[in-house]
Amino acid sequence: MASGLETEVQFVKGVGPRLAPFLNKLGIHTVKDLIWHVPRRYEDRSHLPPLRALRPGDAVTVRGELVAVESRALRGGRVLLRATISDGTGEIALNWFNQPWIRTKLTSYHGEIIAYGSVKEARWGYEMSPTEYELIEEGDDPSEFGRIVPVYPATEGLFQKQLRRMIRTAIDSFLKQVEDPLPEEISRKLSLRDLRWSLRQIHEPDCEEHRLEARKRLVFEEFLSIQLALQLRRMSLAKESGISFPISNLEGSEHTGGGLFVKEWGLKEGEDLWDEVHRMLPFTLTNAQKRTVREIWADMERPHPMNRLVQGDVGSGKTAVAACAMLAAVRCGYQTAMMAPTEILAEQHFVNLHSLFAPLDLRVALMVGKQSAAEKKRSLRWIESGEARIAVGTHAMIQEGVKFQKLGLAIVDEQHRFGVMQRAALRSKGNETPDTLVMTATPIPRTLTMAIFGDLDVSIIDELPPGRKPIKTHWRAAHRRSQVYATVRELVREGRQAYFVCPMISESEKMQTQAAQDLYYRLSELEFSDLRVGLLHGQLKAAEKEDVMGRFRQHELDILVSTVVIEVGVDVPNASVMIIEDANRFGLAQLHQLRGRVGRGEHQSYCILIADASSDDAQARLKVLEETTDGFRIAEEDLRLRGPGEVMGTRQSGQLEFKVGDLIADVDLMELARRVAVELLSKDPDLRSEANKGLRKLADEAMPERHVMTVG
Ligand code: ADP
Ligand code: MG
Repeated sequence: MASGLETEVQFVKGVGPRLAPFLNKLGIHTVKDLIWHVPRRYEDRSHLPPLRALRPGDAVTVRGELVAVESRALRGGRVLLRATISDGTGEIALNWFNQPWIRTKLTSYHGEIIAYGSVKEARWGYEMSPTEYELIEEGDDPSEFGRIVPVYPATEGLFQKQLRRMIRTAIDSFLKQVEDPLPEEISRKLSLRDLRWSLRQIHEPDCEEHRLEARKRLVFEEFLSIQLALQLRRMSLAKESGISFPISNLEGSEHTGGGLFVKEWGLKEGEDLWDEVHRMLPFTLTNAQKRTVREIWADMERPHPMNRLVQGDVGSGKTAVAACAMLAAVRCGYQTAMMAPTEILAEQHFVNLHSLFAPLDLRVALMVGKQSAAEKKRSLRWIESGEARIAVGTHAMIQEGVKFQKLGLAIVDEQHRFGVMQRAALRSKGNETPDTLVMTATPIPRTLTMAIFGDLDVSIIDELPPGRKPIKTHWRAAHRRSQVYATVRELVREGRQAYFVCPMISESEKMQTQAAQDLYYRLSELEFSDLRVGLLHGQLKAAEKEDVMGRFRQHELDILVSTVVIEVGVDVPNASVMIIEDANRFGLAQLHQLRGRVGRGEHQSYCILIADASSDDAQARLKVLEETTDGFRIAEEDLRLRGPGEVMGTRQSGQLEFKVGDLIADVDLMELARRVAVELLSKDPDLRSEANKGLRKLADEAMPERHVMTVG
């Protein structure tokens, strides 16, 4: 039988079928949801300022008797409703536009109004456009309005007053049914308050101290449930059987004991795998790269599927790490596949991997959507017969028809762009469960990594290859464009190359192409008519793109004008300046990614952001980029400025919304929750004990949503 807490919210007294749909809109379906609908902020109305004391710019709550209502038609068909309230010391006008229902309500209203908004100076006094307001109507208890009141996330048509009442009712009649899922031992050890107390206090705190204690308890529960779910999932993945690559037993063919395939694809006589890595790469791996490779190889040796995330800032050298993993798989007799989110990136990987592996006599097959039928057929044949040990492609690779002879390792680059379905499909291409390596260039703040990828093992490449000079970033207003162009010209004269990225006008590829074409015209025909300028955008055919990229790589072009298609992966060390037009249209993380296209060689590199940033927010964002090249700091700023849903892309938004917790502010609690989860599961791996029953339920409830984010 469903507990009272699972009761549909419409059966709560005071909700009913009329108001329930509004609550549903807020994600509130059951009594439990309603009780967990925590305030967005609180308003201390016990000491409201007298109206005479208001100052323009104040964001305040005002309270006063309604003394006049007038409504006026404005230009453009808008209707202004103006209600003046007075508290005896002064007056303020409350303005609403185009809200006829408020007018209906106010014309017959006598009494007090409470409103919240920011005070503005008007011609005859002060005014505000309330973001929230309440009427103290007959039957209301005026003292209700004169204390610290919770302000809830609400939706149009639902008043704060109503929400407050419904939540109060739900708490009064159902709180006693709430059972605390946290074992007493944990609560005691961490000095956490109990759940019932916390739920009551979060809605109607006695004081700030209690509110904070209540909040901490609730956030901890939210975070713990996710961490338990992720750890449980990680443990169940770890139990699956997978390939055990005999890496540490690999030796030159003379001593081989690893079976047919190892013999066939094994190492050169007298070499071990590190020797071959050194021979393959034109540089020495950084310590961070070496550590990551060791971690990957160790995973590959274990007889369970690897699920590892490699996180490294742009330019940290993830491709080389991937190549080392691929080499290991190949030398153990398996095939390996790398999947990239865009054709350009897949082609770029192909070029890089081909140049690394061809000298080792290993064939790389490319699989992208726009290849000719003949090219595709040839790649398919190579992959199926095993002639190609390495395959690189876009999602075209996972479409029906591609069969691997013996897939052992799947690498997914720029993971956040893939749906879990695609990753799962790539994995299912093997007869045995292949190992999975996920590489992401987006430096995800640590809290997010834990929240989202807690079921993956994580390697962080936190070191850039030696000799890199930090990129100098400058923000320039649009009217200084000609100075910027002069700088570009000078650098080109010194033998460097430049990228121009044009504004992201909209999500539409067509409009972006148009913008790129316009800029291309302006630069190639006017500004830089004496230089070699190329154009790259998403609507070009694969061969055309490859041609342009190839010419830029070969330094047959000085300037490449592009849409954001170059955002990921493009690697031309001689390019040392990047101009981003209308930079304020991009997200911070995206600008950082774009900037990562330069600074890849020994030359001092520059990134110039052209923008007329008007708002404080926009200015703050551009300044962050001027100040730092630390991707993790940028990611955190981005998260702070935009919220987690945006940072991860719309597809995943909603996955990261916590009811109470805040991924940045509560980072310590997330870490604590993780430690507690690990410890709990080490003692009681299935959470079977009586004391942990509540936790098991929490974890099970947390899982369905998280599924989407994990390697399937
Ligand atoms: P990421 O994919 O992490 O952005 P890449 O793998 O594309 O970075 O590497 C960036 C550039 O640095 C490439 O030109 C690559 O050849 C070079 N590189 C990678 N590792 C090293 C290293 N250890 N020493 C010198 N150069 C390196
Ligand atoms: Mg890369």
